[in-house]
Amino acid sequence: MDKLYNFSSGPAALPNEVMLQAQKEFVNFNKSGLSIMEMSHRGNEFGEVIEGARELMRELMQIPNSYEVLFMHGGASTQFALVPLNFSINKKACFIDTGVWSEKAINEASKSIKVQILASSKDECYTQIPDYDINDIESETDYLHITTNNTIYGTCYTEIPQCMEVPLIADMSSDILSKPYNIHQFGMVYAGAQKNIGPSGVAVCIIRKDLLEKVSDMIPNIFSYKKFAENHSMYNTPSTFSIYMCKLVLEWLKKKGGVEAIYPINLQKAKLLYDFIDNSSLFHSYVKPEHRSIMNVPFFTGNKALDEVFIQEANKNGLMQLKGHRTLGGMRASIYNAMPYEGVKALVAFMKKFEMDHR
Ligand SMILES: *Cc1c(COP(=O)(O)O)cnc(C)c1O
Repeated sequence: MDKLYNFSSGPAALPNEVMLQAQKEFVNFNKSGLSIMEMSHRGNEFGEVIEGARELMRELMQIPNSYEVLFMHGGASTQFALVPLNFSINKKACFIDTGVWSEKAINEASKSIKVQILASSKDECYTQIPDYDINDIESETDYLHITTNNTIYGTCYTEIPQCMEVPLIADMSSDILSKPYNIHQFGMVYAGAQKNIGPSGVAVCIIRKDLLEKVSDMIPNIFSYKKFAENHSMYNTPSTFSIYMCKLVLEWLKKKGGVEAIYPINLQKAKLLYDFIDNSSLFHSYVKPEHRSIMNVPFFTGNKALDEVFIQEANKNGLMQLKGHRTLGGMRASIYNAMPYEGVKALVAFMKKFEMDHR
């Protein structure tokens, strides 16, 4: 076996160069003699790390100064609860339901505010993005929430909803930094770091400043986006090592040429895999072609036992963590930024051989 390729949906593969750099600096950061993990978060060293990570986010996503970039605790799921807590002036929000992560966001919001489901593709088993009409959003709605890329089902929006009246808030956990997004279309974007940014546990939140001004002082500080913004994401001790890892990944992406350069590679990777699946006599995809994700590609043989054999044999051949989500079964290849084209080539070559052997 020459090389391992990790297709995990998250925590996902990190670029090899990043891991090696972190290893090299682990016990001696920046010639300080200390690990970044054991340094004060108020010190210069970590200050430069978190500032650097923030600036790289700004540069890579072209985020203007009218937005804050925050590093929050508790991954994406914590934002499911914090978004309604921070932004519900009228105690009413609207959601498009495109899968388990949308549903979780809806469930958390409905504990404290009124929820309108603008559209749902649940009846289609989430194999597509549903049709929706922005004009159906009820009056006095605080925000519209979407999940840009549905990690489990392998769907994504072809077009981001344009709503003039209410801010758009997006869970972008599994496709942030994979393709160009126009940040001006969003009131807020958040992402758990563990797919395209770094280790799990951290969430990056990008929030338009005028929304922050409306956040109530009555909510606990530790849950307040406003307090985190005022304290430059250091209201309490941030997850220092994770944020350091995020910075290394963002530097790596910048060196690769940024989002503009990685996007065509991501398209090529996805095309290679989908083209093979579409022409395969064994494997198939259930996702409506125009809504196919370029980050997560679920596929099936239609035979559970054979899927299991595929996963086992792929594993033996260095193609790791291809098991589909527990709710869907089958296989799923997550091909985030850190997955090189060669990795997808190796997967397709293996699938070809498997198909020949099991026809
Ligand atoms: C992974 C994922 C989440 C959950 O992230 P946690 O950090 O585990 O809370 C939420 N939304 C989407 C779209 C995801 O891919």
